[in-house]
Amino acid sequence: MHSKTKGKIGQKLRIINIVPLLIFGFISVMLCYYYFTKTMQTEIKNELRYVAYSVQELLDATYPGDYELHGENTYQLYKGENDITYAYDFVDHFKQNTGLDVTLFYQDTRILSTLYDTSTGNRAVGTAAPQLVQEQVLQKGDSTFYTGVLVNNAKFFAFYTPLRNADGTIVGILFVGKPNADVDAAVQRSLYPFILITALFIIVISIFILLYTNRLAGSLMHIRNFLADISKGNLTAELEQEVTVRHDEFGDIGRSAVSMQSSLRAMIEQDPLTGLANRRAADRRLKQIVRKYEEEGIPFCIAIGDIDFFKKVNDTYGHDAGDLILKNVSDKLREHMRSYGFAARWGGEEFLLVFDHSKVSEAHVILEKLMKSVRALDSYYGEQLIKVTMTIGLTAGDTTDTDALINRADENLYDGKMQGRNRIIWQEPSIPEEIILDESEIGDLIPEKPRDN
Ligand code: GH3
Ligand code: MG
Ligand code: MG
Repeated sequence: MHSKTKGKIGQKLRIINIVPLLIFGFISVMLCYYYFTKTMQTEIKNELRYVAYSVQELLDATYPGDYELHGENTYQLYKGENDITYAYDFVDHFKQNTGLDVTLFYQDTRILSTLYDTSTGNRAVGTAAPQLVQEQVLQKGDSTFYTGVLVNNAKFFAFYTPLRNADGTIVGILFVGKPNADVDAAVQRSLYPFILITALFIIVISIFILLYTNRLAGSLMHIRNFLADISKGNLTAELEQEVTVRHDEFGDIGRSAVSMQSSLRAMIEQDPLTGLANRRAADRRLKQIVRKYEEEGIPFCIAIGDIDFFKKVNDTYGHDAGDLILKNVSDKLREHMRSYGFAARWGGEEFLLVFDHSKVSEAHVILEKLMKSVRALDSYYGEQLIKVTMTIGLTAGDTTDTDALINRADENLYDGKMQGRNRIIWQEPSIPEEIILDESEIGDLIPEKPRDN
């Protein structure tokens, strides 16, 4: 049995086609994610900076003057004449309009904030700014942007900028932030269609590649199996049509294999001198014909023909002349049998003639014509004209026992030789007569009683 898989080549073809495709898909999604995130971050940074400066400007416009801390036990932050310690409306207003969180620090302490402490539910005020921010903004006076600063147990994109009084001294920090989670969700939402299209693209291409490589590998397997059959001596194996109809190199190999098979078959099934089927081929074809007779009841006949006094031809004109006669007679046999069955070289100057769809009376008529044309055949060996005749024994194929049929044809041939050659001997199959016994004869069949001695 041949394996049903598409073989190692098929596996390799699939791997070298699909793996790079998957890698390509993965890399393009990752690159896209990276650049998209980068672009998003730049945009967020600009947005946060813009909002931070707007907050500062609006603070200055609404509450003109410097920041100043009043009171002793509790914080009270003043800006100019105004106590802004509880001016939450101001920051909430920004959050409403921009969706961004805003915190105002006096020095490192949160005074106004849109953020709430998740554990207590109170506004996140009174707590301190992260150490790094204190150093960067309070001490050095830089505005800084962070992509993942931890505030209130959540990660934020954050922009910190120093708050200054009129004389330029740094008195606090302004924070504007956007939760990372929001940004991630947005990035993912934007990436989904791209990922979907890439996945679809990979799936469709993969399907095409699989179909193509399966067909290619399939053809290769058919060729392999076909050659394996031939190498085991099976010369009747058939190559799948899907290979022979291909217009590529696989098709070429397939067609070459088929013609190699028919050359081999010709070599081992053809008689080299006459070009007729040899005994091996005759046996094989006869079996097929008998099978058809058995299964479908198609009538067939067998005849054996033998050239008369052939030894004399050899003895008189030489072996080459004998060969010439064999070839010429064979050509006639082939010509006459073409539409009725086949002719084979059965032995030296003996031929087997098989009719694959004729009754014996029809076969007889054809053989008479054949005999006439053999008699009329003029074979010239050099200047020498040589004429021959044949004797043929014919029989109807009334059994599947081919040996018995050939024996019967042989017996008829022998009778023909005995009766003077140059003739066809044929008979309808003989029906064995019923044996009717006389009563008197029955008596004879009863064995005598043994005598007691
Ligand atoms: P009959 O009429 O009884 O058949 O007589 P015959 O001489 O034809 O029969 P016989 O069997 O005595 O001789 C057959 C001869 O055929 C003997 C053999 O040398 C010759 N022969 C067999 N094969 C070949 C061949 O391939 N070439 C040639 N030239 N002769 C062959
Ligand atoms: Mg002979
Ligand atoms: Mg003979």
